[in-house]
Amino acid sequence: MGAMGHTEEQLRAMFREWIEDADDTAARHPEWRVKVHTHSRDAVARTGYCEPKERHPDAPASVRTLNAVIWIYRDDQNTPGPAMRELVALAHEFGHALSHMRGKQTPNYKAAVMKYDAKLAAASGTHLEADAAALASQPMTEAEQDLVRDEECRAWDYGREELEGRGLTDFRKFDEWRAEAMAIYERNFERFSSAT
Ligand SMILES: [Zn+2]
Repeated sequence: MGAMGHTEEQLRAMFREWIEDADDTAARHPEWRVKVHTHSRDAVARTGYCEPKERHPDAPASVRTLNAVIWIYRDDQNTPGPAMRELVALAHEFGHALSHMRGKQTPNYKAAVMKYDAKLAAASGTHLEADAAALASQPMTEAEQDLVRDEECRAWDYGREELEGRGLTDFRKFDEWRAEAMAIYERNFERFSSAT
């Protein structure tokens, strides 16, 4: 890390504090909860995943729900990866949770990403149940691609704001990985735009 950046330990502490804040928030406000887990990597080889949950039954009607489970994947569950990598993965997945809370994850988006995920799983050789296999056999339309692309950009934008709020100042890696991740989506859209 250069003079403008943080040390590995500082980044690791930022990651840990973020997870502790999420646990603390979940304990104090069950209506606003984000649970973060680390897990060994699966066949799809993601760096992270966010699964939005339904509104918590105890949430007051006035509260916008922030309810999601986030997984940060590691080569081995008990061995942290590079701190900046994990921090950026957490920021991106937290961005998806915020998008969910802010009502940006529309039913049309959810249908589009379900198809994307099914096609990705099929392409990586994961066994699919009949419903998912049927979905995976359909091409993704341009409109579906736009919905997934827009959500990915939102998650990166929201994640960046959170990281800025937590004091990160060097966004070179963040920007590099954002570009790489978006390029993977673009390559997959190209593969997924035709029937399999
Ligand atoms: Zn994403």
